[in-house]
Amino acid sequence: MNIPVPVNAREIGECIYCGTRDAPLGKEHAVPYGLNGPWTLLKASCDACAKITHRFERDTMRSLWPDIRNALAMQSRRRDKRSQTLPLVVEHDGVRETIQVSRSEFPIYLPTPLFPPPALFWRSKPIRGVFTNLDAIHIAGPTFKEASQRYPGANFVGAHTNFSPEDFARTLAKIGFCAAVHGLGLAAFTHTPIRKVILGSDPCIGHWVGSWHGDPVNDTHEGLHAIKVQRSLAGSDIHV
Ligand SMILES: [Zn+2]
Repeated sequence: MNIPVPVNAREIGECIYCGTRDAPLGKEHAVPYGLNGPWTLLKASCDACAKITHRFERDTMRSLWPDIRNALAMQSRRRDKRSQTLPLVVEHDGVRETIQVSRSEFPIYLPTPLFPPPALFWRSKPIRGVFTNLDAIHIAGPTFKEASQRYPGANFVGAHTNFSPEDFARTLAKIGFCAAVHGLGLAAFTHTPIRKVILGSDPCIGHWVGSWHGDPVNDTHEGLHAIKVQRSLAGSDIHV
């Protein structure tokens, strides 16, 4: 199923994560607000669940992409506080120094976690956590190598990234789940295991969440009676 992307919002009327209708319900951005996401669900999350999702989204954005969002001038609720310099880490013989440099002098990379496909497709038993590698895609400014030439003798020039793969995977799970609910409504997904992954009560995240490198969605896997949803945006797909 390849659903065209409407930019309008969809009203849900119950918490998409826990199912409650008896609490005040707020708005959910499928893709975090700070990443310019297009899909919005109205009356879609209770305070308790929103607190959980906002926590892992915020931590993921701050730890993984604090600079990239500035560099690409994505929307921020605190636009006026955007700084004009960025902290470059320079290490000489184990001594670490942080130097503020202008944007044009900062090597801007997009840290990109790489997951295997969801383990559901290649393992029978769920295991805790998620496997991940981290790639870095050069976006703007000098490369790390070019930047390091300005600091002769330095052992390291760049930036350190310390992030939680589980939080990143939960952010992906939330985006996929919200995109699917936006397309098909919540009724199709009331028993989906992904809710437990998002709320944190299922630690086997890698069983359900991963990267996909093959043909659009594997619909021939034996024993899986899967509903597949594919939401497309220029240059990117979300497979649910
Ligand atoms: Zn809830």
